[in-house]
Amino acid sequence: MQQSKKARLRARFVQSTFLGGKKTPQRRCVGCREMKDKPQVMRIVCNADGNISIDETGKAHGRGAYVCKNGDCLKKAQKSKGLERSLKRAVPQEIYETLTNVISMER
Ligand SMILES: [Zn+2]
Repeated sequence: MQQSKKARLRARFVQSTFLGGKKTPQRRCVGCREMKDKPQVMRIVCNADGNISIDETGKAHGRGAYVCKNGDCLKKAQKSKGLERSLKRAVPQEIYETLTNVISMER
């Protein structure tokens, strides 16, 4: 009995040290300008041809910008032109519309 308790404590130690210590990648939202865990943000990517799209896989090549999955951040990003600044080009209105749709679907 004593032994199994010790083993449990050890397992917890290993988990917090080696697994819990591993950081979730963080990305800066262009709306609120805060660092967020990657699953909380959407990635907008500008490829080599200059086409802007929403990167649902998170693995597309190109320059990426991130915005939280909420309407407030998206509005802020649109108003401050944070996406434009990050991607260094104009973001079509459709992109904002699609992002709005994605957010409403997530809810
Ligand atoms: Zn945000």
